[in-house]
Amino acid sequence: DILFARLLVSFFGVGCRRWSWAVETMKRHHVEILDGKSISRGRPMPSFGIEQAPAMADHRRNGSSQKEFKLRPMKKFDGGRTMRTNDDVHVSVSMCPLFQTIVDTPQVQRLAGLKQLGVSEMVYRNVTHNRLEHSLGVAHLAESMARALQRKQPNLKITGKEIICIKLAGLCHDLGHGPFSHAYEVFRKIVKKRRELEEKCSSAESTLDDGWKHEDASLMMIDALLKHHGMAIDMDHLDEPLKQIGNGIDAKQLFAEYDLPMEELSKPDNVLTSRDWVFIKECVLGAPLPKAGETIKQSTSIEYIGRPHRDQEFLHDIVANRHSGLDVDKIDYFARDERHAFGSAGNIHGLFIEEVFVAWGDCPDPEKCFRCKAHYHEHKGKSTEQRKKIQLDLPNNERQLDLHIRPLMHLMLCYPEKLVTTAMTFFINRFRNHSQLYTHKAAKSAEYLICDILALADPFYRISNVDVDDEDGTEPLFLRISEAMKDPKVFVKLKDSIIDVLELGAAENLVLQKLIKRLRCRDLYKCVVSRSIRPGRGGDVRDSKEPFVHKDDKALWGMEEEQIIEGLVETRGEHQGVVLNQENIIVEMRTIHHGKGDQNPVNFMRFLPKEKLPLLKNDIANLPDAVQVDEESYAAHIPRAFAEYTVRVYCRGSVEEGELLSHVFAQMDNDLKDSPICTEVPYGMEDSKSNAGPVQLSQDSVGDFTPSKQSSSQSSSFSDDFIRSGGPGVTPPRKTGHAKRKLLDDLSPQQDKKR
Ligand SMILES: [Zn+2]
Ligand SMILES: [Zn+2]
Repeated sequence: DILFARLLVSFFGVGCRRWSWAVETMKRHHVEILDGKSISRGRPMPSFGIEQAPAMADHRRNGSSQKEFKLRPMKKFDGGRTMRTNDDVHVSVSMCPLFQTIVDTPQVQRLAGLKQLGVSEMVYRNVTHNRLEHSLGVAHLAESMARALQRKQPNLKITGKEIICIKLAGLCHDLGHGPFSHAYEVFRKIVKKRRELEEKCSSAESTLDDGWKHEDASLMMIDALLKHHGMAIDMDHLDEPLKQIGNGIDAKQLFAEYDLPMEELSKPDNVLTSRDWVFIKECVLGAPLPKAGETIKQSTSIEYIGRPHRDQEFLHDIVANRHSGLDVDKIDYFARDERHAFGSAGNIHGLFIEEVFVAWGDCPDPEKCFRCKAHYHEHKGKSTEQRKKIQLDLPNNERQLDLHIRPLMHLMLCYPEKLVTTAMTFFINRFRNHSQLYTHKAAKSAEYLICDILALADPFYRISNVDVDDEDGTEPLFLRISEAMKDPKVFVKLKDSIIDVLELGAAENLVLQKLIKRLRCRDLYKCVVSRSIRPGRGGDVRDSKEPFVHKDDKALWGMEEEQIIEGLVETRGEHQGVVLNQENIIVEMRTIHHGKGDQNPVNFMRFLPKEKLPLLKNDIANLPDAVQVDEESYAAHIPRAFAEYTVRVYCRGSVEEGELLSHVFAQMDNDLKDSPICTEVPYGMEDSKSNAGPVQLSQDSVGDFTPSKQSSSQSSSFSDDFIRSGGPGVTPPRKTGHAKRKLLDDLSPQQDKKR
């Protein structure tokens, strides 16, 4: 026993000494790792071919000058050779050296980290394709369409430089998407609303602007991409090569037209200039570049800068078609998404690429068109022939075509008349994709779960702008997820992987952990109500652009999400021990359409009958007029309604809570159907009346109702007067100005425009 005890003591002693030695060594090594030296003393870490530079932390601390920290010198651009990459839909996509130089940047490579349909993967397990594949596909189609036009109509004088610009616009059009694409935009709205509540401020005072769209970030990322190569657009010298801002590639070399021999490269005509890059940006938007300091939503620009002449206007419609919405972006993602989700061949696009041509056409939406709205009222009564005569008074110089020639007309991408039913099919497919794929209830449910995860992490998680290529010692910046789109160096790091990163670092945040686990186990929020809103009867009574819905559904559809949530809780907040928690309810007012709200999108396209096709060889001023095709000629192909409205309610809580929610919604819905707005307004007259009409009616029936109360506290008058007393004859909730604006926004063709 004594021997054993002695042995034990000596082992223990040695163990203690070994332990303290190990701790000492580890401490030393830990410090060495932080210092960037080797783990084993004396032996330097392999450099992996990277020149040793001062660590970023030192650089920041010392505020070292520009001399120490320059842009990484790029390998010499030697012209290279054109490569091809395989593609799911287009089989093969060609990549010229210039194109490759843009593809191999952090900004474009980031797209590989964004799934095209991040949330739909919860429903269709094989829709795992990413935005880089889609962007390469769009670039390929954009080039094909531009080349088809160049080949068929040499009179349009499309240059090789313009084709490469349009191709690059196709590549860059989605650079501004956030993680999980549209979920990021929804998440930002949630954070904005929450912060307004916390800070008790109005939308206008909120620090988080809501005018942001992903196209804004696309423009920012194009600038970042050029900066990565040490170049910038110079708005003061538009017709010169890009401004050199570092020791990257020589702008003259890099952005030269790609299929030229090396000795031709440095000639100014063969180089992509600042004007060309502005043109690329305008092709991405399908609209003029917003002025400095404006977002796309606030834009007041009415002139293109890159290609300002009217006879080149159609070039901007290839990647983003502002007239009809039928562009190479949609052609690619419909084909790609359908192929992955539904297993269809997805080869509808060939006709739209090959059969396209350019002709004159009446502006489909002159009231909203940035070019036409200024002189819409002056010319709106005149026929096409009358408007064409205005041109005769002016000198007929093709390249000097002026804004005032042919008012309310554009040179547009048009199709032969035989394609009218194919076009209808295209828009019907669009509707199906939105209905079954993009806004599928499980996909939306996953989207809300992801939004909750991001919103929960937003207050404490920060992303830094640290970049090893930093040349100017910029101030360190640490931004929230919701604000990452303000800085390109932060945004470039924000991808779908943010959920994985949060999962790794969420050890102490139990709620966050639980939510992420729900996502991993596909334990999504339950959709407990899906209530269709019937479309109204069209025809002559319709004189407003509001959604035209059935009289019985008008009251429900006129409410806002928050009003419905409050109404539900106040109808019955508790039943047999199950409590309805306001925070567990999500209400979604879903509008899906065929591309142009409740209007026929094919009416926004222009077609040419077969006998006029030979006229396409004429010079630009004498190109034929393409027209809208009479709906009667393809009546059997037209759906009965173009827009679908649905109210959906999701429950974050338990199954019992979900069941109660579904019952309570049915009760509230019944009460609403009996409300005066549904029963007393003559059918068909709803839209022609001003708001004062229905107010008068309900005032009579309620008696003690005062309009001032109605307008001053919308939600409380709703809950006090309507829900608690219930039944007919009480004040219904009424559409406020805000609600109406929201409905119009939902209907506007901008929604779902680009994915
Ligand atoms: Zn127009
Ligand atoms: Zn796209």
